[in-house]
Amino acid sequence: MHTTDSTSAASAAPFQLSADRSSFDQAPLYDPSLALTGNPAYHPSAAQKVALAAVGLAALACAVAWASGSGFSGSLLAVVVLGFGGGGIAYAWLTYGRDHAGIHNHGIMFSAQQARGHFGWLWGILLTGLYVLVYWFPQYLTGLIAVFDPISNALGYPEGSRQWVMYGSFYSLAVATMGVRAFLKYRHVRYQKIRTVSVVFFQLAFGYSIPYLLVLLDQPELYLHYFWPLDYDGLWPDTFGWMPMAALIFGAAMIFIGTPVLTYFFGKRWYCSWVCGCGGLAETAGDPYRHLSDKSLRAWRIERWMIHGVLAFIILTTVLLWLSSTTDVLSPIAAGFKKWYVFFIGLMFAGVIGVGFYPIFGSRVWCRFGCPMAAILGLQQRFFSRFRITTNGGQCISCGNCSTYCEMGIDVRWYAQRGQNIVRASCVGCGVCSAVCPRGVLNLENGPRTERFGTAQNNLIEDLDILDM
Ligand code: SF4
Ligand code: SF4
Repeated sequence: MHTTDSTSAASAAPFQLSADRSSFDQAPLYDPSLALTGNPAYHPSAAQKVALAAVGLAALACAVAWASGSGFSGSLLAVVVLGFGGGGIAYAWLTYGRDHAGIHNHGIMFSAQQARGHFGWLWGILLTGLYVLVYWFPQYLTGLIAVFDPISNALGYPEGSRQWVMYGSFYSLAVATMGVRAFLKYRHVRYQKIRTVSVVFFQLAFGYSIPYLLVLLDQPELYLHYFWPLDYDGLWPDTFGWMPMAALIFGAAMIFIGTPVLTYFFGKRWYCSWVCGCGGLAETAGDPYRHLSDKSLRAWRIERWMIHGVLAFIILTTVLLWLSSTTDVLSPIAAGFKKWYVFFIGLMFAGVIGVGFYPIFGSRVWCRFGCPMAAILGLQQRFFSRFRITTNGGQCISCGNCSTYCEMGIDVRWYAQRGQNIVRASCVGCGVCSAVCPRGVLNLENGPRTERFGTAQNNLIEDLDILDM
């Protein structure tokens, strides 16, 4: 094949097209600049491998505790917390903190873990299996649960339900560690930094410290940042029997007054991507999988049927339970509705599928297809809110970054190309579409409700009257 002197020096190059194209012959086997996704498969440095080894050590400690059925009197707790937390944060720092700010793809489209490869499926199956065990078969997790005995003992937590201390601790550790990662990754955007601090704060304070402090004080374990209908039994008659009146009034006031008012001013983002624990996990631990959301019209259609179906289900269940508390006739029906809602929606969907399927369907499966709170907030956002994402269509280069990274499956680019405002019920206002846009096309705004649907504001170059500027 190589017939001239000019090509013989580069005879190892595989893509020689002809003898007189010697400059092409010098090209490396793979030129990353030609890849639409930015980089070839990601190869961690030696320091990153050390950080990953710390995470692996923590995972090994968990596996040993689990297999042995012993938490080794809680002596593994420090290894688990420092390994997952310290190793995870060190890895995030080495990956994002030392690199220049701005979006990096880091080869996610080539990753076996983040692109539904074999590691992604394995991780999804493992997570789903763990959730099933935590909810229904905690007896098979005895050793793992016992790792957290120092915390359970300090709280005086009852023996039979200590899996929730383990679960809450892992959950909070994941949000905190991956929150640092998200902070570093999106540190070029102030909105992202504040929002990430907010979700981590709400999880650590309202989702972990305050409930356990209440337990320590012999008070009911309250999660004050969850309201009905997400907290499905928050307005059920049974709850009125044990929950303090102040907490009940606060919860009811939030759903009937606080939520509409805040959503009017800020859109559903005030809750879904700033406060909620489910959203907090999605925005932190789920961030590596956010691009896996389905952007098709079919998925959008399914989403609207499902989420509003779940909303109807919880409203009907709540009404039936209240009616059955006054008349016995409806009791069997109400009990049936309650049982099915708790099992299929409260446990299977919100818990098992909601998190276990992150590596397969993206980080917001529950928020997008099932959460009745998101359904209510979405209706308010769509019809009564000042929130919108404005787009400067003339600047869009159709790179598709925004659509790719929208965790709610919104084809943001479609709107951007047309210069249309985005006023979608499902948008949780995470702002990542705006953060990853290389052209500054997208802006999250709260403004007057008039014209919020936007007559398409086509800032195309040919529409500008430059003599009038
Ligand atoms: S449209 Fe943008 S702000 Fe809304 S959910 Fe998608 S990425 Fe987040
Ligand atoms: S809006 Fe920005 S991120 Fe989206 S396609 Fe256009 S240039 Fe790309």
